[in-house]
Amino acid sequence: MRLLVVAVFFIHSLLAFEYQLKPQQISSNIYCFFGLPQVIDEHNNGNMVNSCFVDMGTSYLVIDSGPTYAYAKEAYGKINAIKKLPISYVINTHVHDDHWLGNSYYKELGIDIVGSVKFKNEAKLAMTRMQKRISKEAYAKTTQVFPNVFVDKEKTLTVNGKKVFIKSVNKKAHTSSDLLIHIPSLSALFVGDIVFNDRLPSLRDGNIKEWIKELEKVKSYNAKYIIGGHGEMVTPHSVDFTYNYLVELKQKVSAAIEDGEEIEDAVDNIKMESYKSSHMYNELQRQNVETAYRTLEWEQ
Ligand SMILES: [Zn+2]
Repeated sequence: MRLLVVAVFFIHSLLAFEYQLKPQQISSNIYCFFGLPQVIDEHNNGNMVNSCFVDMGTSYLVIDSGPTYAYAKEAYGKINAIKKLPISYVINTHVHDDHWLGNSYYKELGIDIVGSVKFKNEAKLAMTRMQKRISKEAYAKTTQVFPNVFVDKEKTLTVNGKKVFIKSVNKKAHTSSDLLIHIPSLSALFVGDIVFNDRLPSLRDGNIKEWIKELEKVKSYNAKYIIGGHGEMVTPHSVDFTYNYLVELKQKVSAAIEDGEEIEDAVDNIKMESYKSSHMYNELQRQNVETAYRTLEWEQ
């Protein structure tokens, strides 16, 4: 019987889904897992998003918990293998599910999860986007766990004597729930999906004008590390790709509206050649033109 139990556990551990995550060291205090520049599918199983661990000395701060329970568990396991520490807080940068479904693992550990007050308006979905698109094995044990500590305008946490300033963008930029996390003593600024630096940003739930304004504010922070929700660049230049893309998109769409071009024609005509070889151009360019057009036509 005992042998059988051992055998069942052994087989179960073989079946537990593994992402093969590899932590990247950003500074002496920061490690990140960088996702692939891809749409969510059954091959990457949601490993297309960044999740970072900040060593605060006596605990880790987790910035975005990733796409699944299995992802979060594996990520924390890999970080603990480098240095074993408890977690003080998990912070969710916004409501897109690739950034927070890993909360289901951290809740099991009893950790406080911090997010925008806008999470309160989110209804639990019958099926998440992740659940629809990834394998059952990867999604196993994942549930929708929302934050239990909310940020309205701003909130300051003190962890081991270090200040963590969390600021709500407070306007619809990438979403209506975007948070920026600034840790001056580590010269680090985490900006969630305000910054994509290796693929086209998704404008679907955003506002192009406010997003550009927010990027201008992000540029003015004096931080050595500016870390976005997608992409491996972590210098202040990580901001440039999204900023340049959105500024060009806004200018082209505004010109089309001014010329009286219909939305369908703008979607067909605004190609932005220099981004054609960027990841996710084919998936997002037309949709971004359409979203920008709908925002800008009301505001002109
Ligand atoms: Zn997002």
